[in-house]
Amino acid sequence: MPPIKRNAPSFGRRAHTTKEAAMTERLKVHVDPDKCQGHARCKALAPELFELDEYGNAREAGDGTVPPGLEDKAWLAKSNCPEIAIDVIEE
Ligand code: SF4
Repeated sequence: MPPIKRNAPSFGRRAHTTKEAAMTERLKVHVDPDKCQGHARCKALAPELFELDEYGNAREAGDGTVPPGLEDKAWLAKSNCPEIAIDVIEE
């Protein structure tokens, strides 16, 4: 196994902090209605980003745009959806 290079090149993409990423990337969330089973975990974790219908199935609030400062909640909701129904799209 080759040794790990501590100063490996970044191949043109600079590593950035979460704060920097939030300033440069816009996120959108999207719920796949065919996968959603209405667990409402997304709504519990990120109530600003999701709405529930009368059956408890989720959809993205508005057009799905994640307001600045809520990016971590979008990723948290995605990672906690048991049906893998949430996409987070980086624009
Ligand atoms: S956590 Fe996933 S399956 Fe549950 S309501 Fe939200 S999108 Fe639907």
